[in-house]
Amino acid sequence: MSIKENLKHIQSQLPEQVTLVAVSKTKPVSDLMEAYDAGQRIFGENRIQEMAEKYEEMPKDIQWHAIGHVQRNKVKYMAEFVSLIHGVDSLKLLKEINKQAENYDRTISCLLQIKIAEEDSKFGMDAKDAENILTSDAFSKLKNVKVAGVMGMATFTDDDTQIKKEFDRLQSIFEHLATLNPDLKTISMGMSGDYKIAIESGSTMIRVGSSIFGARD
Ligand SMILES: *Cc1c(COP(=O)(O)O)cnc(C)c1O
Repeated sequence: MSIKENLKHIQSQLPEQVTLVAVSKTKPVSDLMEAYDAGQRIFGENRIQEMAEKYEEMPKDIQWHAIGHVQRNKVKYMAEFVSLIHGVDSLKLLKEINKQAENYDRTISCLLQIKIAEEDSKFGMDAKDAENILTSDAFSKLKNVKVAGVMGMATFTDDDTQIKKEFDRLQSIFEHLATLNPDLKTISMGMSGDYKIAIESGSTMIRVGSSIFGARD
């Protein structure tokens, strides 16, 4: 199936409240333009430099999401244009995003990445860390960042029961954190292999790459 057909197929399964981020990392601009021409306006990239290059080349009504782990020294390359940073895992990183956003007189929306998977390889903080950040003085002083929700990645496994359990946990962490800060509205969870389960667990934003653009090298 073509990129356009893949997109239409996925879109047709999504409840109204679920936003699709088309994860286009490693893919050429021509592939992204095919998705763009089919109506897609939100793209997710995990390498900041690659995202910045695609931003320069592509139409300016695209919303660019940084979905991967973010190194602090890379924030400056996306501060001008990024619309959502999914992988925020420390107050230190939030402070850097705030500083760079200030330079452009913008407020940058971020998601706190919560570690829900069993694997050690997945980044993220635990629920208590997130609560501590949201209730801290230091955070309340950051005027150029907004925490818009949470993001999580389930364990890479065939065991749907375990995936469901991890997504349910993220949903309940979200419910709790949202009582502390009314800006929290988004639960970013679900990828090509598990987005249907994520939606059952209350995801409001799925990040889908290979099911749209095909396998990556
Ligand atoms: C690559 C990536 C995705 C998309 O993965 P697919 O399995 O290709 O859908 C989603 N989220 C993050 C954080 C990623 O790095």
